[in-house]
Amino acid sequence: MRTHLWTDILERIQRSVDSHRYETWFRPLVPIQSADPNELTLGAHNQFIADFLDQHYSTTILTLAKQFHPSIYKVSFTVIQNIQQKASSSPPSAPPANSDEQPEFEKLRNLNPLYTFQQFVVGPGNQFAKSASSAVAEAPGKTKFNPLLIYGGVGLGKTHLLHAIGNHAKNLAPTTRVAYASSEDFYFSFIDAIKNNETKQFAEQFASKDILLMDDIQFLAGKESTQEEFFYIFNILHQNGRQIVLTSDLPPARLQGLQDRLVSRFQWGLAVDIQPPDLETRVAILKKKAEKDKLSISEEVLYFIAENVPSNIRELEGIIIKVLAYASITRTDISIPLVRNILQLSSQEQRSKVSIEEIIDYVASYYKVPVDNLRERNRRKEVAHSRHVAMYIAKNLTNHSLKTIGLHFGGRDHSTVIHAVKHVQTIMEKDEDLRNEINYIIAHLSS
Ligand code: ADP
Ligand code: MG
Repeated sequence: MRTHLWTDILERIQRSVDSHRYETWFRPLVPIQSADPNELTLGAHNQFIADFLDQHYSTTILTLAKQFHPSIYKVSFTVIQNIQQKASSSPPSAPPANSDEQPEFEKLRNLNPLYTFQQFVVGPGNQFAKSASSAVAEAPGKTKFNPLLIYGGVGLGKTHLLHAIGNHAKNLAPTTRVAYASSEDFYFSFIDAIKNNETKQFAEQFASKDILLMDDIQFLAGKESTQEEFFYIFNILHQNGRQIVLTSDLPPARLQGLQDRLVSRFQWGLAVDIQPPDLETRVAILKKKAEKDKLSISEEVLYFIAENVPSNIRELEGIIIKVLAYASITRTDISIPLVRNILQLSSQEQRSKVSIEEIIDYVASYYKVPVDNLRERNRRKEVAHSRHVAMYIAKNLTNHSLKTIGLHFGGRDHSTVIHAVKHVQTIMEKDEDLRNEINYIIAHLSS
């Protein structure tokens, strides 16, 4: 019986590792039924943890397992979505089917289920934005906040709120039709639509929704025909009493490169700003994240992190992941001196200590693709992802110019590199696994 086996193994592990490491890596694991009775499969909370355990602890666990069941020959790790809801021996279930109609402009409509109001920590800097968002989610199109525009700096929770509005509205009324789009996706999909003669369907996609959530509208600056299209869609929705929610990095009056008639419409409803979180809010956010990922970090260390990191919440999350990776790679406890080291390293910017070659080598081995495939000019799909990631990391960890980076990847030009970097950034915003993956690679390269 898998559950017993795992309980036995856990007990052994608990006796041999310190409590932090035990709580962080092992206790949250869940045994999962695998097709092969002689394989032990363990479900981890995220890809980062699964990879980490696979690399560092699979042999230890296998040795322990063999002591109880000599026939076991393999230990593997997998990611399960919501660890609490899984009974310990149930097989991993298929991902939930998308309840929406057939995807047409697929990228445009995925709500991130992790970005909810429950997960959003409220503090003085964001409470107004949060209240307005809740009001709109409770009664889309029925408040005076139409459009609702949320603006503020990077990493302060604008995208999170947009998704939370969509998720909450759908929870209250499952038939609510919601479209989420980053302005970048909107722009690129519109171009595709023009190419394919599908602009009518394109507009229809949005104009038929109850709620349109449009992220980072500053990106539409200078893109005249995309703005025209957006203006057209905006008007249809607004006339029909549908809800529109927008985000931008600046208040409407300071948005450059957007047509006046658009900007003036943005001011019909309510514009609210998000300010960086104060200390208490940063601590609360860290606690929430630690809780969600089932990580055990002492109160003292949480405060230390909150006091010493920039207010950007995305960076705050990045630091937590780095702390974890360091603690495990160097096999030390999560302590204040450790965090201090990491923060120092992050701020001095390990820049240029790592060479592009090292980055390419490590990324290739991480994704198990031949190094030469990253360096060569081939267009094989399987290596595209790892190459993009390597370019993104090279841009972030070294001081080399885009041109130099391009040269290391088979003489690609700088625009290819920019494109790759942006592409990775966009996916990272939505994809927690990729974020963890990249943070892990960065932590490794800088350790
Ligand atoms: P923005 O869109 O403003 O750049 P995001 O919404 O992408 O920022 O937020 C960056 C990260 O910080 C996300 O992972 C998000 O979940 C998290 N985050 C932001 N604000 C909060 C908050 N108030 N409570 C909890 N997590 C937050
Ligand atoms: Mg955002």
